[in-house]
Amino acid sequence: MSDADCLFCKIVAQEVPAEVVHVTERTVAFRDINPQAPTHVLVVPRDHYENAAALAAGDPVASAELVTAAAAVATAEGHADYRLVFNTGAGVGQTVFHTHLHMLAGRPMTWPPG
Ligand code: IMP
Repeated sequence: MSDADCLFCKIVAQEVPAEVVHVTERTVAFRDINPQAPTHVLVVPRDHYENAAALAAGDPVASAELVTAAAAVATAEGHADYRLVFNTGAGVGQTVFHTHLHMLAGRPMTWPPG
């Protein structure tokens, strides 16, 4: 289930290059091209869903796998502390409309986010 015009579908299909750091049956994790922390990885489902809620409704197993994959990457890269973020909607900064979980780590972070 993919969208021909979707950048992250193309990364999953290896039609667009990315630095892939972890793969599972239902997910692919790759480094963000514009990192906002020393470690900034995006974990995406292989199938195309517009946002986290759509993924959770359509494929709850893949939805959970995003989180376990992000945790595995954090552990593999030596981070006990990390932040997970789903942006949902252009108004809060979503720019790619294929579900992606940001995993950020490696620097102090403040709350609330900007
Ligand atoms: P959003 O703003 O939550 O939609 O996050 C989209 C993220 O995708 C941003 O952090 C971008 O830097 C990142 N991004 C955009 N294009 C690419 C790419 O080709 N490879 C890796 N990351 C990308």
